[in-house]
Amino acid sequence: MSKTIAINAGSSSLKWQIFAMPEETIIAKGIVERIGLPESIFTIKYGNGEVYNRVLDILDHDIAVNMLLEQLIALNIIRSFDEIKGAGHRVVAGGETFQDSIIIDQAVLEKIESLAEFAPLHNPAEAKVIRVFERLLPKTTNVAVFDTSFHTTMPEVNYLYSIPTEYYDKYKVRKYGAHGTSHRYVALRAAKMLGKPIEELKLITCHIGNGVSITAIENGKSIDTSMGFTPLAGTTMGTRSGDIDPSLLAYLMEKLEMTDMNEMIDLLNRKSGLLGISQISSDMRDLEENPDPKAQLAVQIFADRIRKYIGSYFATLNGADAIIFTAGIGENDRKMRQRIISGLSWFGCELDPQRNEAQAVETIISTEDSKVKVLLVPTDEELMIARDVEKLTK
Ligand code: ADP
Repeated sequence: MSKTIAINAGSSSLKWQIFAMPEETIIAKGIVERIGLPESIFTIKYGNGEVYNRVLDILDHDIAVNMLLEQLIALNIIRSFDEIKGAGHRVVAGGETFQDSIIIDQAVLEKIESLAEFAPLHNPAEAKVIRVFERLLPKTTNVAVFDTSFHTTMPEVNYLYSIPTEYYDKYKVRKYGAHGTSHRYVALRAAKMLGKPIEELKLITCHIGNGVSITAIENGKSIDTSMGFTPLAGTTMGTRSGDIDPSLLAYLMEKLEMTDMNEMIDLLNRKSGLLGISQISSDMRDLEENPDPKAQLAVQIFADRIRKYIGSYFATLNGADAIIFTAGIGENDRKMRQRIISGLSWFGCELDPQRNEAQAVETIISTEDSKVKVLLVPTDEELMIARDVEKLTK
């Protein structure tokens, strides 16, 4: 047995899980929240339901990783750092360079840093955490697992925008997509559940959490996805607008007397989506049962945009064998699933209301007769990361 840590570093958080491999059992997991803010929260879950929890100021990712490693020893989760053979790091932007997960050397790390232009909130934090791991755990093999890799199989016809091609040639302006590790994981699980090789299936995977992305998968490969050059594109999300007419930016900036484009992009990233429409909350749990007409409108628009993407992917794939729901809303919100699927009966999708009561378990939720199967698959990006580490370090 060896131990592998899967790391998911965000701009102000660090989520992690330690697996025993190849058994794939979870030994411990945790999260550091509010890094760089007062009263950061440091949590470790381990053993038989034990929890270690502290609130203190954690200034940066360097301190967060140091504290994590110290506590792993102090709580007897590991006896020495040498036990951690591999560390898998989620990296948001891999551009066109990284078509698969890869063992990190200096050249890879520098490339991850140079891709910060594509993910300014994420790549720098992730690169920083990798550097801390290299320093503190010199014997551990670090592996990068990119959100974008799974989507590098998209054909040109789907990843190019309808703008002068020279901007793609010069600046790599194209659709990259996101949530790739999640789409890849749930597609593989779905093939198992359907008892067919993934190469024989057409799937539409719906990752519906705070961020939302819908992906069309054929022969196990992503051929189109709803997020774009950045994760701002696609459907309506918790705080993100999703697709809009770009002319609106100039018009609105003039009306709002805004001169900085970044301010406008920030409005679309952080103040729009469910939050912007409802003016109440970005969290689906606050809106689903809320009788306020704006809350209900937000919920309807949210479902509508997802349904439209699924509809368009029926066209992209020329039909589909299954639709898969995953992530916070996809896994837990039966009403949202009902809203989305009820408008797709013409395509041969029918939910079984009883089966659709399920929450966060792997199960088929369509009727026996439904031409297109509808599946619930809890995502597990950390496990996918640990598997990639295992594969590459063997
Ligand atoms: P993130 O993209 O931040 O990882 P998650 O996948 O955790 O997001 O999803 C968060 C969303 O899931 C929130 O909108 C939350 O309200 C929603 N959610 C979680 N549990 C439920 C539930 N039982 N019913 C409805 N929505 C839920």
